[in-house]
Amino acid sequence: MAAPLEEPGGQGPGGLPPLPGIDAPARRPPRSGARREWQDARVLEVRRETARASTYRLGLPRWEPHVPGQHYVVRLVAPDGYRAERSYSVASPPSDEGVIELTVERLADGEVSAYLHDGIAPGDELTVRGPFGGWFVWRGDTPAVLVGGGSGVVPLMAMHRHWRATGRRAPLRMAVAARSPEELLYRSEYGDETLLAFSRAVPEGSPRPRGRLTAADLEPLLLPGATHYVCGSTPFAGHAEELLLGLGVPADAIRVERFGGG
Ligand SMILES: Cc1cc2nc3c(=O)[nH]c(=O)nc-3n(C[C@H](O)[C@H](O)[C@H](O)COP(=O)(O)OP(=O)(O)OC[C@H]3O[C@@H](n4cnc5c(N)ncnc54)[C@H](O)[C@@H]3O)c2cc1C
Repeated sequence: MAAPLEEPGGQGPGGLPPLPGIDAPARRPPRSGARREWQDARVLEVRRETARASTYRLGLPRWEPHVPGQHYVVRLVAPDGYRAERSYSVASPPSDEGVIELTVERLADGEVSAYLHDGIAPGDELTVRGPFGGWFVWRGDTPAVLVGGGSGVVPLMAMHRHWRATGRRAPLRMAVAARSPEELLYRSEYGDETLLAFSRAVPEGSPRPRGRLTAADLEPLLLPGATHYVCGSTPFAGHAEELLLGLGVPADAIRVERFGGG
């Protein structure tokens, strides 16, 4: 298996070192995160989102409201004591009291994601710890531009759902990239605030041709004074960050989280 991805605290997303130019202490989770204990969550529902992604709705005995963008760590323990831990962003808003939803994309040969897809059903228990993350978070009261690719849209959807649940207090714009409409997560939830970019197959009658996200896609979404949240695979996140910088967005107004299959 690949090395466990991250010990909550300090290290960059996906086990990567902290991004250059970003103050490492600011990327650490809140101090209280270090004390969060493992707990056994009850799987209340498993929802199929796409052919490769499912959402797990978990009831937590010790729930606390997360900040959109935070994640939980899921721990699997085999009968022989072997353990695997992976981080999963919370997709649900903090107003969803007592529960969290995690959306997991099944990676080819992925150890934990495949186990969750094949081995977890409603009624099962999952050991989790969280919420963690103090940097890639949005509280809902400042302008935000969200740019997500593939499963990178998960933490952004927590922000989007929080935005809707709290009455759209601050301006928010979103760009979501997916290979095809069939692979688009949360497809019924986007409105006029969201630009959808399909790279390989577009829906019939789509005004946008298929292709990678472009500067022309992002330019109309820019908001004065916004923080820009970019999440997706390493190639996607790098591309989106370059586009934003090319459009004149200051580097310190861009936050990037990297994970997800290419
Ligand atoms: C902060 C954070 C939030 C995240 N949120 C989400 C989320 O919301 N949803 C989500 O789906 N994921 C999320 N992830 C990613 C998640 O933590 C896992 O990395 C992901 O599910 C893959 O884990 P896995 O055990 O299935 O795959 P792993 O077993 O870790 O394998 C990962 C990849 O490496 C390949 N691989 C494994 N071993 C080898 C090898 N020996 N040689 C070559 N290739 C190999 C596998 O085929 C697979 O493609 C997040 C990550 C972070 C850091």
